[in-house]
Amino acid sequence: MKIVHSVAEMQDTAAATRARGESIGLVPTMGSFHAGHLSLMSAARTQNDRVVVSLFVNPTQFGPGEDLAAYPRDLDGDARLAAAEDVDVLFAPSAAEMYPDGFATTVHVAGVADVLDGAARPGHFDGVATVVAKLFSIVAPDVAYFGQKDAQQVLVVRRLVRDLNLPVRIEACPIVREADGLAMSSRNVYLDPEARARATALNQALSAAEAVVALGETRAEPVLAAARGVLAASGIDPEYLELRSPDDLTPVDAVTEPALLAVAARVGSARLIDNRMLEASR
Ligand code: AMP
Repeated sequence: MKIVHSVAEMQDTAAATRARGESIGLVPTMGSFHAGHLSLMSAARTQNDRVVVSLFVNPTQFGPGEDLAAYPRDLDGDARLAAAEDVDVLFAPSAAEMYPDGFATTVHVAGVADVLDGAARPGHFDGVATVVAKLFSIVAPDVAYFGQKDAQQVLVVRRLVRDLNLPVRIEACPIVREADGLAMSSRNVYLDPEARARATALNQALSAAEAVVALGETRAEPVLAAARGVLAASGIDPEYLELRSPDDLTPVDAVTEPALLAVAARVGSARLIDNRMLEASR
């Protein structure tokens, strides 16, 4: 596996790959790999001739007071894990390489990026959309892989790709969970044992909502109440817990069509997100 730090070398490497007629799958990440990241690499491996994984803790998607400095970083460990997934290129640029002096462009996706995490973390999705646009431009992948764990991010990236006619296909991969249901996240390392135990309530809350829907309930309020009850029992007051359209994130008041139930909550010193697609039983 080749490790590339410069944009120019990444562009040359990708251009040579395309000139050979080989397809490229890109997996954008911020590193500190867990099984969720590895599942994206594995999907990319099965569907493309070449796999590029980008590892960049993107400063522009962190707000003031967020965990940019504390964010876990382990390039050597990540390189070993990516190599074991048969990744061809690990693209790990510095912040100065991605945002040189004078950098002045921001990509803003209106609508889907303005609600939920976009409202809770102002500017977050501008940072995401800008860096993803840059990565697509640098690597020019045929397919890019994102996790459904960050469901809103998938919608923002899909909108970006449609609006700017970017020639890349977006694949969303299922959420990978710990044995007790907690969605894997690089931020789970912030959880002390007490918070780690309580954090399972997020997945349990989504499951409780799903169970209510499976019993025939479609109205948003009882569905949300079931989830809220599970969170409250673990002392978790969510930042948001909302039922939204999986197409454009507009609020929905019933699960008559498939709906996205999304939650964000601070648990101990970690801010965690999770989500579940709910479908009415027939
Ligand atoms: P990150 O390094 O946290 O920015 O994540 C990089 C990619 O991995 C994003 O597309 C995430 O949605 C995805 N990802 C993170 N955690 C998981 C998970 N538990 N299951 C599936 N995909 C994930």
